[in-house]
Order: sequence, then structure tokens, then C-alpha cells
Amino acid sequence: MVLATTTKPVMGYVHSIETFGSVDGPGIRYVIFLQGCRMRCEFCHNPDTWNIGTGDEMTSDEILADAIKYRAFWGKRGGITCSGGESLLQIDFLIDLFTKAKAEGINTCLDTCGQPFTYKEPWFSKFKQLMAVTDVSLVDIKQIDTDRHKRLTGFNNETVLAMIQYMSDNGHHMWIRHVLVPERTDYDENLRDLGHYIKTLNNVDKVEILPYHTMGVVKYETLGIDYPLKGIEPPTHDRVVNAENLLQVEDYQGWRTR
Ligand code: SF4
Repeated sequence: MVLATTTKPVMGYVHSIETFGSVDGPGIRYVIFLQGCRMRCEFCHNPDTWNIGTGDEMTSDEILADAIKYRAFWGKRGGITCSGGESLLQIDFLIDLFTKAKAEGINTCLDTCGQPFTYKEPWFSKFKQLMAVTDVSLVDIKQIDTDRHKRLTGFNNETVLAMIQYMSDNGHHMWIRHVLVPERTDYDENLRDLGHYIKTLNNVDKVEILPYHTMGVVKYETLGIDYPLKGIEPPTHDRVVNAENLLQVEDYQGWRTR
């Protein structure tokens, strides 16, 4: 008698799905927001994604079967994006999903803050496997000053910068994003340092300033969590332009061709 063997599928813990995302990577995208994050960014507008190991359990096949329904809208540049929460906390699921997506010729985009990055094994080999099936990564640098980064997120920025350096050294394309928060990141000296740092990197297709907003406040009230940035208003248009100039965002136009 031959016993049938079954391989247990890798489950993803999904917070939510957006079928027509236009800001999470090139073109129109199907965006999967994965559940779980260790950071505690003071400006986070999705505190409901923080808990690890909760969310809707889904397989990569279920997600791809749904995503493919929207393929006609993606054009040449669109595809799927995995965001969060911190998507890299579910690296096995990402490898499974992106490997299958690439086999279907789908453009893949990883949105990450880089906090889980490590050269320790077996994690690092998994990361290399993931990069081999990732077309572009959206990487947030919350603060270039590590002390201010720690105050802002609860972690220093070493793992984030190590991940970015690895991507830079190994031909992996990036969009770098920076949230501009008065009294937290909107300091000329930090913006200038960040601009200089980005200039040292390879494969940066786009640099974006994301102005801080207060749309997440309601979620904090619902969850009964004190809002850490009470009284801090979004940056003025002039400060956003100032940050864009200090980061020289105009110099990064590779995304127009990707
Ligand atoms: S890394 Fe993203 S999801 Fe996590 S706390 Fe920061 S903003 Fe929120």
C-alpha cells in the first residue's frame, strides 16, 4: 500500500487586501497587507497590523487566484505588492507567493522597513531566495540618525541600513521612502545626511518624501492606545519641498523606465 503524502501549504497571515493600489510600487497593483510588525513607529497609521500571528490565514494559491482577476488593469508595469505591517516577518510565505507569481510572469514588489533583516542563517539564505523573485523593493528609512530612529520606532536603524547596503551591492532595485514628521524627522541636518547617504547607493530608482498625516488617530482611539504624536501637525508644503530638495528626489528617475 502506498501512503499519500501531503505537503502542508505555507500560510500567510493577512491583515487586508487592496485590489487597486496606485502608490505601492510601479503602476496599478494588487496589494497584500500582511499582519505583524515589531516596530512601533510613533506616526504609524496602521497600529491594527502590529499583532503577530493573527489576521486571515490564506495560502499563496488563494491570493494569486484572486489577484489574477485584476491582471487586465496592471498594464506593463503593475503587479502585486506585499506590504504590512512588516512583510519580512513572513518571509517563507513571501518566497512561496513571489516564486509562484514570477512563474506566471507577474511583477513583484516588496514593501519593507527592513527591521527583521539579519545575516544569520537560515534567515539570510531565505532573504537571498526572496530577492531572486522580487522585482523592486519599497524601503522606508525612518530616520538616518540612529538615536532619533530609536526614539521614533523603538529600534535603531542598523538592520535597515544593512539590508539596504546588501540590496545596493547586489543589483536589487529600490524605491526609498521617508516620512516627514515635524519634531521627529524634519531636521535639515538629518535630511541632508540622508540625502548624502542615498547618493552612495546603487539601484535606487526613486526617492519619495511622504508627509506625515493624522489619519491613523481614529484607529488608536478604537484600540485604546495613547496617540504618541498628539499636537504634532502635518508638515507645511514648504517643508515638504525643502525635504525634497535636500534629498534631491529629482535625481532619481529610474522608476519612469521600470
Ligand atoms: S514599520 Fe510600518 S507597520 Fe510597523 S510600526 Fe512602523 S509604520 Fe507601522
